[in-house]
Amino acid sequence: MDDKPPSTKICELYAAAEHEKVVLWSDPKSDYRGIIAVHSTVLGPAVGGTRFWHYASDEEASRDALRLSRGMTYKNALAGLPFGGGKSVIIGDNRVEGEARAALLRAHGRFIESLCGLYITAEDVGTTPADMEYVRQETRHVAGLQGKSGNPSPVTAFGVRRAMQAAAQHRWGSDELSGRKVAIQGCGSTGYYLAKELRECGARLIVTDVDAARVQRVAEEFGATPVAPEEIFGADADIFAPCALGGIINDETLPQLKAGIITGSANNQLGEERHGDALEELGITYSPDYVANAGGIINGCRELLGWGRDQTISKVHAIYDTVQSVLSQAAEAGIPAHRMADRLAEARLSQGQASDS
Ligand code: NAD
Repeated sequence: MDDKPPSTKICELYAAAEHEKVVLWSDPKSDYRGIIAVHSTVLGPAVGGTRFWHYASDEEASRDALRLSRGMTYKNALAGLPFGGGKSVIIGDNRVEGEARAALLRAHGRFIESLCGLYITAEDVGTTPADMEYVRQETRHVAGLQGKSGNPSPVTAFGVRRAMQAAAQHRWGSDELSGRKVAIQGCGSTGYYLAKELRECGARLIVTDVDAARVQRVAEEFGATPVAPEEIFGADADIFAPCALGGIINDETLPQLKAGIITGSANNQLGEERHGDALEELGITYSPDYVANAGGIINGCRELLGWGRDQTISKVHAIYDTVQSVLSQAAEAGIPAHRMADRLAEARLSQGQASDS
């Protein structure tokens, strides 16, 4: 079955979205093309990373920016942060290096600067903390810089581990992960650190990545069992941890799933909302992605809000409580967890203020 959404004119796509602002920009001198999507600034400036990706079409890039920025609004609201949601994408080959890379990222920085603080960026898939130093040369509206809050991935992974423990407690009455089999899709920044966290908890790991060197590293360092990318969905595991790209819970993968819990770092894990409903029907416990992976943005609060390390870590620990609360309230209301998470985030948004602690 063709899972691709029907083709739409870009302006129609933006008109249908509920975003405050979507801006497109190009800089022919540096071969830069980018989109900044500001979904909401109700709770504060729109915060969300920069994704650098070789999109198949401008429409695909637009859909990604729209969906990811909306997810950031919900993530920040439910984490109780005084931020709205935004995201930017750079369209192109993220393997570009040297002066060409610096020129692209500086162009992106000028684009961000033109929004006068409405949007604050950080690293995301395809960009690094080192890239943010180039962005910083053009704008101060950037976080995740080296020597400041730095790479958010270890903190994101810690938060995902806490979310996994909360889901285990909800499902099995114990948050002990020792001896549990966890299948990790993606051994990149967050997947690597999640494997490390889980190994320390005594979990048994099954891992995959399209990049063979990354799989090998995790296999060697943490004794994980590698499988082919297409085998990860049907892996014989207690928990499935999506830590690569979005849309991986879909019509094709749902029938393959064997795990009782899904908790991972990836954004937009559900292909569509209905796939979250299907997880509920299958009896699979799903920790909504933007609740589980909030550790990265919480880490950014060290830089954005001047939080100390202890305050940051205790806020990441609290992801456990948020996941438990979402799962138990969803069960009580008889609705899937992703819908309960949206409901709680929307309540925060309508209050118009975050509980910044
Ligand atoms: P990354 O680019 O470092 O790692 C992603 C990995 O997934 C790469 O190694 C890539 O080769 C692999 N991959 C891509 N397609 C794959 C496939 N089909 N099968 C198997 N592996 C595949 O990115 P990351 O920083 O680890 O982020 C992963 C996800 O987590 C993204 O969706 C990102 O938006 C989300 N996220 C990351 C953070 C963070 O702190 N880095 C925070 C919140 C959310």
